[in-house]
Amino acid sequence: MYKVPDRKIRELLDRPFDGSDIRAILGTISPSAPASLETVAELIRACESSPDLQREVIRRADEVKKDVFDNKIKLFVPVYISNICINKCLYCAYRSPNIDMPRRMLTPDEFRAEIREVLSMGYRVLELVTGETPSLKEPGALATYVRIAREELDKVSDGNEKGEVILMSWTLDDEGFSSVKDAGLDGFYIWQETYDEKVFRDLHPDDSPKSEFKKRLEVFDRAIWKGIRKIGMGVLFGLGRWEYDVLATIDHGRYLEKTYGVCPDAIGVPRFKKADGAILAEAPNPVTDEQLKLATALYRLAFPQSHIFLNTREKLTLLIELLEGGGSEMNIACAVYPGGYTEPTKDRQFDFYSFPTETTMAKLQEKGFEFTYFENPTAVKI
Ligand code: SF4
Repeated sequence: MYKVPDRKIRELLDRPFDGSDIRAILGTISPSAPASLETVAELIRACESSPDLQREVIRRADEVKKDVFDNKIKLFVPVYISNICINKCLYCAYRSPNIDMPRRMLTPDEFRAEIREVLSMGYRVLELVTGETPSLKEPGALATYVRIAREELDKVSDGNEKGEVILMSWTLDDEGFSSVKDAGLDGFYIWQETYDEKVFRDLHPDDSPKSEFKKRLEVFDRAIWKGIRKIGMGVLFGLGRWEYDVLATIDHGRYLEKTYGVCPDAIGVPRFKKADGAILAEAPNPVTDEQLKLATALYRLAFPQSHIFLNTREKLTLLIELLEGGGSEMNIACAVYPGGYTEPTKDRQFDFYSFPTETTMAKLQEKGFEFTYFENPTAVKI
């Protein structure tokens, strides 16, 4: 089971920059020779004092990404099942004590309609999202929704790409993983939020299940044991110190590679955003745009084969910069409320953008990007 090498990470970050030839180091990094944890720490320290070096790091990340993915962007769409949640994360509008938030869990029929809606828009990677909802924790309940998503996706998947059903939920137990896997789940993504245990405990009150730091840390081991090998990991930037969390995420990914031969499918770079009804009004450790760009590039250099997973918490101009510096997967349309595509609402988990699919894709195509896991909506037959 994974444990955070806290002392090692702090030592790496505390070492002064030794003046190494960063350009030479970057030249040694390639899809078959990823950056080591020590190299990433070295790059962080070097970039602290030199914007020029940071530009070099980002440029190299873009080259490495193109070696693996060309200029293709994998598109996904988040689909919320429920915003009922027993947890109390201080940064989230869906925390249980927020009684002003309207709560909704889609019925299976409502969920099927929502899935059909996003499929009709052309999307083929469905990221199912839910709060920790007691009725969904009943045996087989969550699997019902996974099965519906899989059924609807299979109906439209006669192209080259079959599409994917990804789940982002709470830390499932063995039985939970088995049932969603049997229902047709392709992958399980979950953010550690922060690998700094003290910060994690401060942000997740200990009378809620999410406060179990160790259980969250071990969730990928349990998923993999049950045959789910498509894993998405990362932190919510802004909670812990970003450099620490980048190194810990990379170390965790290396552990999965060495222990199970599983390279992360995706590494997310979500960043703290204000949420009405949350306790925290500001990020405890704010992350600037430049730091977010560097983190994206460093993940790319450490995991050339993984998707670096962007999201519409950020403006399109910044997303484009992130795509030009290592990012390879993103959403365009976005609703963060159950039923938000069939019945748009102002209720939300956090501040975000939702861009019009067609014009945004046209803008990205002008910049040379192509898309995967998307079918022309006119070709959809549901
Ligand atoms: S972040 Fe997730 S687990 Fe925490 S309160 Fe919000 S919905 Fe619940």
